[in-house]
Amino acid sequence: MHSHKVFPLLTGYFTVAFKNSGKFPKVENIPSFIFLIITEEGEPIIVDSSFDLNHIPAPDSKGVRSKEQEIVELLKGFNIAPSDIGKVIQTHLHWDHAANLSLFSKARIYVQLDEIKGLLNLRKYEETSFCPDHWFFMKDNFVLVDGDYELLPGIELLKTGGHTAGHQAVKISCASGDVVLLGDSPFTYEWLWTLIPEDYWELYKKIADESFFWIPKYSDKIKDWIFMADIIQGSEKNHTVETLAKMSSRCIFSHATDLEPLKAIS
Ligand SMILES: [Zn+2]
Repeated sequence: MHSHKVFPLLTGYFTVAFKNSGKFPKVENIPSFIFLIITEEGEPIIVDSSFDLNHIPAPDSKGVRSKEQEIVELLKGFNIAPSDIGKVIQTHLHWDHAANLSLFSKARIYVQLDEIKGLLNLRKYEETSFCPDHWFFMKDNFVLVDGDYELLPGIELLKTGGHTAGHQAVKISCASGDVVLLGDSPFTYEWLWTLIPEDYWELYKKIADESFFWIPKYSDKIKDWIFMADIIQGSEKNHTVETLAKMSSRCIFSHATDLEPLKAIS
């Protein structure tokens, strides 16, 4: 049992929309949480880095972020500057989770190896969810982990896959019990992507130049990166939302609508 603390930080809301369309699933005012872990030793660790207001796919999408919901401002409330952060955990690299990594220039960024490998073999239309221009330039800060890994005593990375090839959850031992940050693991690829009618995909991609999406020009660089990287070998367990729920007293989804911002989970 440890006494780490977790603070949900609300970084705004986004809407992914096509005007005049009844067919597109309602993705409206989705809250976007990142998390600040304060370890029992006092070390701040960030989980995920939210979305960029200027990069939300689909033609009539929008994001809302107040000044107080900017990451720098949120951390200021804890007397923390982004440069104080030495560890960032990315549950996955979708556009709404990995857009502000450049703030954390001194951090090591923990990502599953399969998340990077998966970029070389994306499923149909999955390229619309990754914007490597947001983070690829920081690849030297990345630490690639292959499977489950104990980052610190009482803080574990748990690979789930599913939502993306290398999606991971984070289990944190708090005084009241174990808390699991689920990331987007409740949303499977099949559920999300098959809801969008085929003819919408081209429209979906039209709002921006190709730099907003995964582009094959990165493939060779990714291969070189994987080849050269020091990979942390973890253990393979293949967690599901159900198994994560069983191992914890509380599971928290990144887009939860009932989560109280800034209220400590301890
Ligand atoms: Zn996602």
